[in-house]
Amino acid sequence: MDIQLPLQRLTRAKYGLEPNQCDAGQLYHALLQFTQEQAAGRPAPEGERKLYYFSAEFLLGKLLSNNLLALGLYDQADELLRQWGHSLAEVEQAEPEPSLGNGGLGRLAACFLDSIAALGLPGDGVGLNYHYGLFRQVFSDNQQRELPNPWIEPDGWLIPTGVRFPVRFGFGTLDAVLWDIAVPGAHTGIANRLHLFDVEHPAPAPQQGIGFDKRDIAHCLTSFLYPDDSDEDGRLLRVYQQYFMVSAGAQLILKELDERGVDPRQLCQHVAIQINDTHPSMVIPELTRLLLERGLSMDEALHQVAHACAYTNHTILAEALEKWPMSYLRTVAPQLEPILREMDRRAKQVLPDPRLAIIGPDDTVHMAHLDIHYSYSVNGVAALHTQILCQSELKPFADVYPYKFNNKTNGITLRRWLEACNPQLAGLIDQCAGPQWRTDPARLEALLSFTGDGQVLRRLLEIKRENKLALCQAVEREQGVRLDPDSLFDIQVKRLHEYKRQQMNALYVIRKYLEIKSGQLPPRPITVIFGAKAAPAYVMAKRIIHLILCLSQLIEADPQVRPWLRVVMVANYNVTWAQQLIPACDLSEQISLASKEASGTSNMKFMANGALTLGTLDGANVEIAQLVGGENIYTFGAHSDQVIGLYAHNGYHPWDYYQRDGVRPLVDFLVSPQLLALGNEDDLRALWEDMKGKDYFMALLDVEDYIATRDRAVLDYGNRSAWARKALVNIAKSGYFSSDRTIQQYNQDIWRLG
Ligand SMILES: *Cc1c(COP(=O)(O)O)cnc(C)c1O
Repeated sequence: MDIQLPLQRLTRAKYGLEPNQCDAGQLYHALLQFTQEQAAGRPAPEGERKLYYFSAEFLLGKLLSNNLLALGLYDQADELLRQWGHSLAEVEQAEPEPSLGNGGLGRLAACFLDSIAALGLPGDGVGLNYHYGLFRQVFSDNQQRELPNPWIEPDGWLIPTGVRFPVRFGFGTLDAVLWDIAVPGAHTGIANRLHLFDVEHPAPAPQQGIGFDKRDIAHCLTSFLYPDDSDEDGRLLRVYQQYFMVSAGAQLILKELDERGVDPRQLCQHVAIQINDTHPSMVIPELTRLLLERGLSMDEALHQVAHACAYTNHTILAEALEKWPMSYLRTVAPQLEPILREMDRRAKQVLPDPRLAIIGPDDTVHMAHLDIHYSYSVNGVAALHTQILCQSELKPFADVYPYKFNNKTNGITLRRWLEACNPQLAGLIDQCAGPQWRTDPARLEALLSFTGDGQVLRRLLEIKRENKLALCQAVEREQGVRLDPDSLFDIQVKRLHEYKRQQMNALYVIRKYLEIKSGQLPPRPITVIFGAKAAPAYVMAKRIIHLILCLSQLIEADPQVRPWLRVVMVANYNVTWAQQLIPACDLSEQISLASKEASGTSNMKFMANGALTLGTLDGANVEIAQLVGGENIYTFGAHSDQVIGLYAHNGYHPWDYYQRDGVRPLVDFLVSPQLLALGNEDDLRALWEDMKGKDYFMALLDVEDYIATRDRAVLDYGNRSAWARKALVNIAKSGYFSSDRTIQQYNQDIWRLG
């Protein structure tokens, strides 16, 4: 279709201007309106069974390019914008990124919606319409500060539906108002929807920081994603959010069943509900309750619910497995208590062990246990993760319900994470392997026959350089820092968590700093880039950010070190940053403590964009290593079974490692006069003490192997053609990590949407 005329009509009607007289913001809004109309004209896919993907987070990223790509209008729009004196990249800068998620789990949900639609499957997302996101991160005094991150505009992506459902809380009833975001499918003529529930009268943004009245449920329920749960009001608010989401979502399911003329006694033949981590778990008792209200018996209702629901586990970190005191549920949704007690009674007949009960002896409700007992599928998100679930973490459950457990290795949509964020590379792949990979990512393997082609390898390096240059411009624009595109770009971007071990990366930086100060120069200049938000109440994570920012300041001010080593932390890491950073990366840091990262997905994004992985054998890194082979990845560190053994026997003592000559000076640098002059003494000292005395995620266990392996990668980088060959193998093998593959497996093994 030709979009020039409709766009012209839009800019004339909206602004009284010709397109070439519009500024970037006006063109953005005209294109937004146009893509919204196109998506609205598409039918929903049909099928006997429909999926509802419930998730507390959908980390969508900007939608304009993505939706143009899905509608098949991307190239044409870019071409037209250039004729009008702009470009898609420039126009897209006017778009605020939706603040509906925080990290990998939410980004996975977004990739899945994209793939479900691209495969033409009937499946909608269900979540909440947060107004101010997690938070917007800024730095001052080398510390993270949190501000609201508003993103909702009058003429944005949210479509009012006029649909609302009453949600009954202990204190009274609140209406859940439904907003939709269209999810057009690439290469299909259909569109699905992301359903986002909101309160009717949302509160305005807080005046200062992200503090707000956590007891003002009626107005603040959807203000922030994950309100600070370090006090009881914050924890209660989370339960209010969760119940609001699932009650409205369950009512939506029943409404759509009615519209399809289906008897709720046949619900499970027509509905699949995927529970993304435990935040939506209360959909199980809530849907049961609504079916009882419609006249089903308890046996009938539980049968329907347990054959509709499937649960995805995302973590084995104990502190992340949600448990709510029954007293909270009694406050928020007292109508659920009798249903949960009955579910617990029945579950105990299968598994009498009180540690495996839904309601524990201390009257707390274990959300994961609820999910496992009352779902027909329980999946982990990478081969190693699922293996650990079945063999240790959830073993007693896997023993009684072996048929429920299965693996679905995560994936990413290559439409956003290659086609849209790295169009030059996508073009080179087209030239080499033909364009079929865009609909059949396994075809990327055709690139393997070009690993000996000098011209292709040179072009690959050129594209990487162009992407690094573009990143340099973005970093200079956003933070006023000028980077050297000819240095090695080493990047670690992900949520800040001790298990992800940004602190170990910082120890490498310290090591290089000390070497350079002593006259020992690295083989080439290195730029270390971080991006990470720390949860507002996670003190250790904030201290690690503080350390990184202090190191950055120290090095920036040192003319002896600065030509060889740079450290920069981008503020407010989000999907928009990720799309700039990942195509520009040479070395991808995936250094979590083995057994702790369920899968990771940024590892997959980096690989698809021709970065080499420096990683532990954790999560999906294991599968990446198997696919590319040992010579095309840098792995190091303790293996997961070793680590699990150390935890089981309290066998790890950081002090033993701290004693070593290669380790102690790095750790002690945290409290060196140089660093204390720049940073907060209490924070740095607390980090230092923790690393020597506790180091719960074992950075010192792996740090020497890490340094040696990273040094080897830096050295190898000097052989440019050999490096390019490894990068090409990584791109060629990344097709396996397309979320289209993941979703096909979910559909074949779990959803069976027909
Ligand atoms: C992919 C992605 C993540 C997940 O990163 P991991 O390294 O897998 O934890 C987090 N945040 C953003 C913005 C992402 O795009």
